[in-house]
Amino acid sequence: MKPAPFKYLAPRSRPEALDALRRFGPDAKILAGGQSLVPLMAMRLARPAIIIDLNRIKDLAYIKTNRGGLAVGAMTRQRIAEMHPLVARHLPLLAEALRWVGHAQIRTRGTIGGSLAHADPSAELPAVAAVLGAQFVIASARGGRIVGPEQFFVGYLTTALKPHELLTEIRLPALPPGAGWAFHEVSRRHGDFAVAGVAAVVRLGADRRCVEARLAFTGVGPGPIRVPDAEAHLAGKRLTEATVQEAGRIAQAALDPDGDIHASAAYRKHVAGVLAVRALLQAAEKAKAQS
Ligand code: FAD
Repeated sequence: MKPAPFKYLAPRSRPEALDALRRFGPDAKILAGGQSLVPLMAMRLARPAIIIDLNRIKDLAYIKTNRGGLAVGAMTRQRIAEMHPLVARHLPLLAEALRWVGHAQIRTRGTIGGSLAHADPSAELPAVAAVLGAQFVIASARGGRIVGPEQFFVGYLTTALKPHELLTEIRLPALPPGAGWAFHEVSRRHGDFAVAGVAAVVRLGADRRCVEARLAFTGVGPGPIRVPDAEAHLAGKRLTEATVQEAGRIAQAALDPDGDIHASAAYRKHVAGVLAVRALLQAAEKAKAQS
């Protein structure tokens, strides 16, 4: 199918893009990599009257260090981030998660900001943003604001972005020193959206007891899901098979996914618990290797 007719704007700078959003926001859609928006338009599930194409705005694509972590421009291609030496050095968790996003061809066009703004409930990047406590830098013609994942992800395919707002940068904090990490996912075929997935970060003390554990799931709710009870269960404990299994059970019990044509709710819940155990044990091994 072909998209419904639309007007096309291609601003060359941020101020031009923000001005276009100020004037046309409610009737417009931003075009980033087009890997989600264009199929939706082709199927006429999205029928924006105006497209505001960001692809000519060069200063929205960059990766730089920021207080030990990374600042990523919203238009940075997923494939560029996956292969970037700064990501390899500072946040290999991001590179690992990106390998699960569609296929290389999709990642070559798809952007970091586009994936987060689209907020697919089975996408990998929202889980990474949630487990790291990312900050989302949002601009509009009236000013700007910075929000965390709890404010940014509002629900199914919905974020805090208003029609006149642009996501410009994502700030990904560094992992605490000595932290281990892991990303695990099950999908029907490699490149498909997750049936369930999880990002895990653990930090061990000098006595190898867990100082902090974080888990963020994808595919099992309307957006990325943290499970504070499962995280709290591990604090102060050694990460043995038994303690981690119990955390997995707590997480499983807390999750309340929907079923769909890809997997039943019960299967998603089961897989999420199994993946949490795998991810926590692997993250703990990485943390131990550093101590
Ligand atoms: P677009 O499609 O251009 O935009 C998506 C939405 O975000 C639109 O509503 C747009 O208006 C809005 N938007 C984009 N940028 C901004 C911004 N800077 N500020 C405000 N709003 C903005 N994704 C996964 O996570 N996991 C997968 O396994 C996966 N598999 C895929 C398989 C296929 C076959 C395809 C076609 C896509 C797949 N994707 C997957 C989606 C892919 O990651 C997309 O690239 C991503 O969801 C959207 O990024 P984009 O840059 O293409 O954004």
